[in-house]
Amino acid sequence: MSDSPKLSARAARIRPSATFLMAAKAGALRSAGRHVFDFSAGEPDFCAPTAVREAVAALVRDKPIGYTPVAGTPALREAIAHELAAYHGIAIKPTQVLVSCGAKHSIVNLLLATLDPGDEVVIPAPYWVSYPEMVRVAGGEPVVVQTMLRDQWRLRPDALAAAVGPRTRYVILNSPSNPTGSVYGRGDIEAIGRVLARHAPEAVVLADDIYRRLCYAPAEHASVVKALAGVHEQYALVDGVSKTYAMTGYRIGYLVAPEPVVVAATRIQGQMTSNAATPSQHAAFVALTDPSVEAEVAAMHAAFERRRDTMLAGLARIPGLGVTPPQGAFYVFVDASRYVGGPGRPADDEELATRLLEQHGVATVPGAAFGAPGHIRLSYATDDASIVDGCTQLAQAFAELA
Ligand code: PLP
Repeated sequence: MSDSPKLSARAARIRPSATFLMAAKAGALRSAGRHVFDFSAGEPDFCAPTAVREAVAALVRDKPIGYTPVAGTPALREAIAHELAAYHGIAIKPTQVLVSCGAKHSIVNLLLATLDPGDEVVIPAPYWVSYPEMVRVAGGEPVVVQTMLRDQWRLRPDALAAAVGPRTRYVILNSPSNPTGSVYGRGDIEAIGRVLARHAPEAVVLADDIYRRLCYAPAEHASVVKALAGVHEQYALVDGVSKTYAMTGYRIGYLVAPEPVVVAATRIQGQMTSNAATPSQHAAFVALTDPSVEAEVAAMHAAFERRRDTMLAGLARIPGLGVTPPQGAFYVFVDASRYVGGPGRPADDEELATRLLEQHGVATVPGAAFGAPGHIRLSYATDDASIVDGCTQLAQAFAELA
């Protein structure tokens, strides 16, 4: 067959995930026998907590695995409502919770259920690579607002005010941020709420809290719900088990929103995927409720903090890189603009990342994919020795480029 089948305009508008592309290239090189230091992947390298694995094994060994209600098992929805109500200090009913196949799916479901063509979503850059594409999938328009390193990559209220209009439906706040690791304080969120309040009730904060529990002291996560109390109480919360519990492959995320939104999003999910995988729902229930899990979560947290410091120490030895210590998540966002452009150097961050991988065996993700050309993102969700050796390798690579 030589003729390509007709593809939809929607498919043509969507770009592939740069993170997955780099991870795939790194995997292909590894399969070909090359050693690769993989700083591209945004996922913990740990196993899920012991109680989770044991519970899933027992379930699939002993019980038939059937469908569950589309929005999730009553037990899991109840556990999520309980956990997030306690954290955010409000009442959440299980009927306000939709369990989906990862936090990514939760965000897409929300957007599909609430955006009409032409509706706008404000996305602070640098942003997680998927946000603009998810908005496009749902027929909306991404409105990218640049943030600055001098503001610790946080959205300023005046920049937001200039971007918000009558078609604004959401402002996405991702704290701690992928890719910058910056964390919004309560005052930052309150100021954003005051701007949005002028566009009430349509403009809503979409809090992507997937890294909520990965803040490093003295940074602390601020609850959007608490920060917006009495200011602009319009928000949707997205959370999940992928990062906190090292359960990326289990694919469980959840949306908390007003009941009519959850009902609409559930209708959409019901015609697309039905329920999230039944064993994974059970796994998430155990992660949220088994008391033995917390010690393992704390150990993973400590490991990430140690690895962050190891990576920062390794990068500090490379002259000319702009490195800001991340306050959370597991990425370092590096300004490598002094190494791009000019004779013999890579033309841009994409070529830089390609060269680092192909010539030096270090996988990173180019900043352009996050709306920040001239940067690269390094994930430290990998073992300590690889971070030390990979940074040594990077130092050699940059020395050659200098
Ligand atoms: N939100 C952000 C900011 C992320 O970085 C990711 C994953 O990398 C997700 C959401 C998606 O999480 P999940 O794997 O649960 O779909």
